[in-house]
Amino acid sequence: MLDQYRRIKRDHQGEVLFFRLGDFYEMFQEDAVEVSSLLNLTLTSRTGQPMCGVPYHAARSYIARLMRLGKKVAICEQISEPGNGLIERQVVEIITPGTTIDEDYLDRGSSNYLACLALSKESLSFAYIDLSIGDFYATSFPSENAAELLRGELERLDVKEMIIQESLLEEYKPIKDAIDERTGLVLNRWADWLFDKERSRERLNKQFGSASLKGFGLGENAPEIISAGALLDYLDDTAKTLIPHVRAIAVYDDSEFVGIDEATQRNLELIRNLQDGENHFTLLEVMDHTRTAMGRRLLKGRILHPLRDAAKINARLGMVEKLYHNQEKLGCFRDMLAKTPDLERLCSRIAMDKAHGKDMAAVKNALNSFGLIYQESRVFDFQFESPEAALLAGEKNSQALVLLGELKKLLEKGLAEDPSILLTEGKLIQEGFDPELDRLRELRDNGRKTLETYLEEEKGLTGIASLKIRYNRLIGYYFEVNKNHLSKVPGHFIRRQGMATGERYTTNRLGELESEINGASDKIIELEKKLFLEIREQAKSCLESLGSAGRYIAELDAAQSLARASTIHGWARPIVDNENRLRIIEGRHPVVEAHLPRGEFIPNDVILDEAGIAFALITGPNMAGKSTYLRQAALTVIMAQAGSFVPAEEAIIGMCDRIYCRVGASDSLARGESTFLVEMNETAYILHTATEKSLVIMDEIGRGTGTNDGLSIAWAVCEDLLDRIKCRTLFATHYHELSQISHPRMSNRSMEVSDNNGEIVFLRKLKEGSTSNSYGLHAARLAGLPETVLERAGEILETLEAANPIKAQIPPHEKKESKVPSEREAKFLSKLAKLDPDSLTPLEALNLIHEWKKSV
Ligand code: ADP
Repeated sequence: MLDQYRRIKRDHQGEVLFFRLGDFYEMFQEDAVEVSSLLNLTLTSRTGQPMCGVPYHAARSYIARLMRLGKKVAICEQISEPGNGLIERQVVEIITPGTTIDEDYLDRGSSNYLACLALSKESLSFAYIDLSIGDFYATSFPSENAAELLRGELERLDVKEMIIQESLLEEYKPIKDAIDERTGLVLNRWADWLFDKERSRERLNKQFGSASLKGFGLGENAPEIISAGALLDYLDDTAKTLIPHVRAIAVYDDSEFVGIDEATQRNLELIRNLQDGENHFTLLEVMDHTRTAMGRRLLKGRILHPLRDAAKINARLGMVEKLYHNQEKLGCFRDMLAKTPDLERLCSRIAMDKAHGKDMAAVKNALNSFGLIYQESRVFDFQFESPEAALLAGEKNSQALVLLGELKKLLEKGLAEDPSILLTEGKLIQEGFDPELDRLRELRDNGRKTLETYLEEEKGLTGIASLKIRYNRLIGYYFEVNKNHLSKVPGHFIRRQGMATGERYTTNRLGELESEINGASDKIIELEKKLFLEIREQAKSCLESLGSAGRYIAELDAAQSLARASTIHGWARPIVDNENRLRIIEGRHPVVEAHLPRGEFIPNDVILDEAGIAFALITGPNMAGKSTYLRQAALTVIMAQAGSFVPAEEAIIGMCDRIYCRVGASDSLARGESTFLVEMNETAYILHTATEKSLVIMDEIGRGTGTNDGLSIAWAVCEDLLDRIKCRTLFATHYHELSQISHPRMSNRSMEVSDNNGEIVFLRKLKEGSTSNSYGLHAARLAGLPETVLERAGEILETLEAANPIKAQIPPHEKKESKVPSEREAKFLSKLAKLDPDSLTPLEALNLIHEWKKSV
């Protein structure tokens, strides 16, 4: 058996092998050592082999724990009956964090992504899938920013598992770093030859039943193909079933959604807070009033992917508004949604032939809810976003609705009230559904009744009043005769077993009745299984319509959640357009406000690019409310572009293409770089990628270095943002000197502080003009610094301020045009432009490099 184990384990090096041995799954050797310590199991040893095991009926909870620890598990079952010789065994399933569709291993309200990253000529090909609902996406990253874009995607998708082309890890350090930073990501390294564009193309076409991928936006040379195909290859290996619910792939590029890089996502605490990564004190927490897992996943996705298309945003806002203005119906939807099971995940279970009796009962309930919700929603004339949901809402909905109606009827008629989750114990199908099943059941029940009549007969015949018929698995039905009555046992009783208290007998008639009853029971189980599978197959044929119903419910749930949040928090519908401006009147920070007593948050306006001013430099002492103000601007834009009402009296949001939020680093130290380096890297990224349509929020950048260095860099960064990029910017700083930058697009604003004879009150109100007092001494006094030290500090401060070195005139910023190349450079560049790297042999390429090197 150990040889068999080793043979099987050889093919499953990357997984923990659960090796079935009777009623246990055993683990051996290194697996046993590792898992026993991870799961706190007793490690034993047999013939020198370390081993540990878990009972098979409790295996799921252990597997769930291993999944959370980022392990993969291969389930090896006994596939032949125990008899003489070695039982045959085979790996029937591989369970991994990114491919599982089992509710026990999944988080209900979160998507569960498996991703793949591969090299495709100059760009990186990135695809990901949530197998538990069948959503499949692909994109590509230009190589210049690949690592930063990858970081952003991994953070926003919270990818659980990833397939990666080996050479990317070996040769591209920034990519390797981006991957290494993600703790808990399960990585599958694949050799380069496993990535093949032609094979990928075929695999994708096979999946979608298409002849060409053009319809999905994947042209002949689309870089996305390679990772998407490899991803399906991996699923073939692990899931070991077809995945018919994966019907399409959505190819996107960064022009569709607001670009929010990793650091910005974290700093803004969109769905995870900075303290413990949970969702308390996050934007999600205040926006999430969803009632279904489907709605919650969709809402989360929307917060992380704000749109850049005003029409789509307005359609979402329209739906929220209609619900907002009809509170009665809103409540009614909320009640109905609360009773709606997760139809999207049920669909994938049906598609992969894994739905059991209770799953099908859940589909029935979901269809019931859908019917009610659908009826109620008709009057609203909602504009749904996804084509699937829009189909149901539109005029060509009849076929889908008919299918769903029929399926609902079938489930109501066919499925037992509280069905079993096993296929092998009956209790799946309702009475009156199938005449043959009813007949068999009657036979079985009659058999039982006949048994009772027969017992009475034998009691009369033998005169043994205490005679009983009993049953056990070993000898089946038998008569039990008490010791005292053994003398009365008649000749046709055949002795089967003796016991201390009496004897057990059978008779020919009892044997006949037994096979009748058992025969019927076996046939019932077989037939119930067959009928159940037929019903499931029927559901499978309606997968598309079921998926549409799921989406319909999800979109409605997301919209009602936002309508509800707007009601509770007093949010207003923003106007969203394409101008480069921001006008938020009486805006609030949605999260800070929600955690303060009502009315205590002090609203502020955010006004950018009216009268040509798009850059606000904000000064004010610590604790004055600068960070809160900055973040509230970014969050308001994200909310609006995600299609939500916003915390303001009124708001006009000129759409942003990217949002950057940088906070003077102190908590990025985990990356092992110095604070300053992190800040500079992040700043460089902004200066390289921000555009006129971006929103840049900088909070105390430049702290990580000496005052003069920091100030000079901050100064030059401000100028670059003002002159070259021209994006909307909020720049909070403790370098008061920056307020001396004089630029027509910049305005100085500050957080108001009232100083009443040394009594300092933060008013948390933004005002025009800068402040030069940092009230540092005030904070020091509050902190209890001795008065003598404070006095001395006051003296020093005065001297320093008088000597203010910055005022010694910084030369005005001269805009430098990008340099014109010299003749030699120009020649070289034109040669380079004409070159076709694809047609070069490696040797030719190498020669070229040598040649260039010589000319430098
Ligand atoms: P700074 O960045 O200037 O140091 P913060 O933005 O961190 O200040 O704010 C300091 C404290 O003031 C926070 O605890 C926050 O909850 C509170 N606060 C900030 N802005 C407001 C406001 N507009 N209304 C009420 N409280 C606020």
